[in-house]
Amino acid sequence: MQSLNDQDEKSAVGTAVSCSGIEAFLAKHKIKPTRQRVAIATHMFEKEQHLSADTILERVNNDAGTTSVSKATVYNTLKLFVKQGILKEVALDPQRILFDTNVSDHHHVLNLDNGDIRDIEPVKINLQDIEGINQNLNVSGVDLIIRVRDSEPD
Ligand SMILES: [Zn+2]
Repeated sequence: MQSLNDQDEKSAVGTAVSCSGIEAFLAKHKIKPTRQRVAIATHMFEKEQHLSADTILERVNNDAGTTSVSKATVYNTLKLFVKQGILKEVALDPQRILFDTNVSDHHHVLNLDNGDIRDIEPVKINLQDIEGINQNLNVSGVDLIIRVRDSEPD
């Protein structure tokens, strides 16, 4: 029988924001809620996800209900969201940057076959064992991307 203590209460990582609360959410993070920023934020924060700037651009401009935005506005707005701490950048490689609504410390599993990216809880890594990290340096963050492929059928 499982006791209550064994149930690891999993805390929700990150926060999905409802459309109606988006202006208040931006204002709370010292971001002036202009129409374009609200349009971008509405699509970005509709659920927990990892999206490229191009995907956001496409979604905002395909949504007749929101104002249209330029590529530059999308980039600048996403960068502002990162600066204000409501989004995190995940660089898959120098050409591919995703914006992550989960701003807590966590790692990723990226499936190279289908592009699927999933969050995984931070795993403990013994940093002392890693060459180049010594006691004179403060580790300010650890971001791992574990790249996987579907296994070949036998
Ligand atoms: Zn993530």
